[in-house]
Amino acid sequence: MASLNMQGPFAFDKSTIDNQITKTSAGNYALGYVNKEDKLVVLYVGRSDNDVDGRIKSHIGESYTKFKYSYASSPKAAFEKECHNYHDFGGPDGSLNNTIHPDRPKNSGWKCPVCNIFG
Ligand SMILES: [Zn+2]
Repeated sequence: MASLNMQGPFAFDKSTIDNQITKTSAGNYALGYVNKEDKLVVLYVGRSDNDVDGRIKSHIGESYTKFKYSYASSPKAAFEKECHNYHDFGGPDGSLNNTIHPDRPKNSGWKCPVCNIFG
């Protein structure tokens, strides 16, 4: 079973996010719901290169009930973790609502650690 290596799951609402994410930082997150075994069923994975708190909150109003998150040591680390999360959960052919491969900043030259999408 793929592992996110993130903290949570936590209730997906603004006050819980405020209580959990106290740093302005690059980071990663996953959104979904919790099954009978109290495990997060991952429906969406994402990252922010500078503000994971704000990025998660941009999803409020969507139909997810739980989230997990982790801080990243750098934007590149966040990108590479998102790629692993995306592929681990099968991308759009798996359980994810993500419709496109994780993007990279223009001119970064970063490559996906899993596939050859960026050559
Ligand atoms: Zn890839």
